[in-house]
Amino acid sequence: MAELEAEAAALLDALDAGTATVDEVLGRLYGKAASPDAQISRAGPEVTITTAPEHAMGPSACEDVKSTVAHVGPRDHFPALEKRYDLVVIGAGVAGLLSVITAKALGKRALLIEKHYMGGDCLNVGCVPSKCLVASAKALHNARASAALGVVGGENLKIDFPRVMARMREIRAGIAPHDGVARYARDFCAEVIIGEAAFADGESVTITARDGSNRTQTVAFDRCLIATGASAAVPPAPGLVQTPHLTNGNFFNLVALPPSLGLIGAGPIGLEMAQSLARFGCKVVVFEMADRLLPREDADAAAVVGQSLEADSVVIHTACRILNVAGPETMAYEAPFSKYEVRVLLQDGSEQVVKVSTLLNATGRAPNVNNLNLEAAGVAYDARSGVHTDDCYATANPKIYACGDVASAYKFTHVADWQARCAVRNAFLDARCRRSRLLVPWCTYVDPEVACVGASALDLEKAGTEYDTYVRPLKEVDRCKCDGVKQGFVKIRTWKGGDEILGATVVAPHAGDLISELTVCMQNGVGLADLAGVMHPYPTTAEAVRQCAAQYWFSPAFKTPAAALAIRRRGEAVAARPASTF
Ligand SMILES: Cc1cc2nc3c(=O)[nH]c(=O)nc-3n(C[C@H](O)[C@H](O)[C@H](O)COP(=O)(O)OP(=O)(O)OC[C@H]3O[C@@H](n4cnc5c(N)ncnc54)[C@H](O)[C@@H]3O)c2cc1C
Repeated sequence: MAELEAEAAALLDALDAGTATVDEVLGRLYGKAASPDAQISRAGPEVTITTAPEHAMGPSACEDVKSTVAHVGPRDHFPALEKRYDLVVIGAGVAGLLSVITAKALGKRALLIEKHYMGGDCLNVGCVPSKCLVASAKALHNARASAALGVVGGENLKIDFPRVMARMREIRAGIAPHDGVARYARDFCAEVIIGEAAFADGESVTITARDGSNRTQTVAFDRCLIATGASAAVPPAPGLVQTPHLTNGNFFNLVALPPSLGLIGAGPIGLEMAQSLARFGCKVVVFEMADRLLPREDADAAAVVGQSLEADSVVIHTACRILNVAGPETMAYEAPFSKYEVRVLLQDGSEQVVKVSTLLNATGRAPNVNNLNLEAAGVAYDARSGVHTDDCYATANPKIYACGDVASAYKFTHVADWQARCAVRNAFLDARCRRSRLLVPWCTYVDPEVACVGASALDLEKAGTEYDTYVRPLKEVDRCKCDGVKQGFVKIRTWKGGDEILGATVVAPHAGDLISELTVCMQNGVGLADLAGVMHPYPTTAEAVRQCAAQYWFSPAFKTPAAALAIRRRGEAVAARPASTF
């Protein structure tokens, strides 16, 4: 025991002296490379952003929906609370869930508050349901395209859309207990409560029940984490806000496949869903304000996605403006679908009225900062960038932290996860885990997938960084030839003349998996020269990563004239000697 105390005291001394860090003790969440610290420009106090209304999960008669809601959003779960908690977390999306798990590991008592569904967007109306649809669409597409591989008869396959959606609901229901009230109340929190939270002042939060009773309770906190996420923003296109339409919040309530769909916004969320529906047989028209798809990705990556969508018969209008939206008074989730008329100004200056049977708005995400009474808590925020924090996730009130979609330019589940762990370590251990040190990979799950880590070409050009680019087209990789993959590439960006990786983009059937190898390299300072020397199994798509890196071995930066001459001379010298064994 005395030995343990002495060892702990020595470690504590090292932490206090700064020769060891909390991260080294608990596990490092970042390493030698970081992504550009993306910031969303702040909006003035006069700016408000309209967001889509909160939707109940549907269809309400579905047993899997009932079961999911019973686990993640029982409206009447409003237990009597204690007066004070070490940590009060507002929002039980990924950021909220990871924050209470981390707090529990630190021995802290947390209260977790959720107003709608635990698991947040990711489980209920985001990553999980969208990837289920993507999987069905991909299975159909691959089967239809299999004639080229000698598998005939797939061309006439049809989709059973109600079954696709039922499968999605079943998978979501299977995950729900994992993110649900019972598990979190039992394993990680002092208490979980379903209700809407707002600050009473800078040290306490009031929670209002959502069962219609309007009961309230107020609790004090030592530390608070705002993890309220983001909602679908409704752009000020004339007629749109007044016309009931789909967003990610109600898209997964669809019961039947609409004959046609207009998609406003060609970002990752919209395109994943649009491509899936197009493959199921829905006629999809995309309206994008920017001059190309996926404006955050490299242009060559977006171009491959564009070709793939066109092959799926998706009609894409870029650089266009919505002039007016007219549609029904109620939303249809099954036949008979309604009629929407979208009047657009196209790139060539002409106007067109596009008629579709449903409309999906996926133009962006607005941070959930309203109705939290942030002013009373002394927390600064704005409608566009969300809650203002410093690099260690602290708000203007040092007892209150914020992370995840409500306070991050990178709006991804894994980012919310990492930020929550960091924020809680900072709140209770003064760990100084900095947002700007995170290395962020991400993936858009269209087909082919587009994954990126670190700095994009655009980031480097904006920063005026001189860099080299190494590209390996997949059509030159043996495994891809066998699989019939003709599009896509691995692209790595390094400092000019060096092999340190600054960023990478992969466009491939499983780009989201392939990017992790490059992320490990970047985070641990493994450059192209070393990556090129790592044996990969043959034949795999991942060989493309090594082959891309191996180009560095033949670049003038590595293979200098002096090195080439030295190797030649060495060969000559060895040849001149009698052969020897080692
Ligand atoms: C269609 C779609 C697909 C996506 N796919 C992916 C993907 O494949 N990979 C990926 O990494 N990311 C994906 N994302 C993004 C990902 O879902 C988000 O980045 C992630 O959910 C953010 O987690 P969060 O905890 O910050 O917020 P959220 O998940 O939004 O959770 C916030 C929670 O706070 C609650 N809340 C808000 N206000 C209050 C209040 N006043 N009181 C109590 N509770 C409150 C909300 O009800 C919500 O449950 C997708 C998003 C969408 C919309």
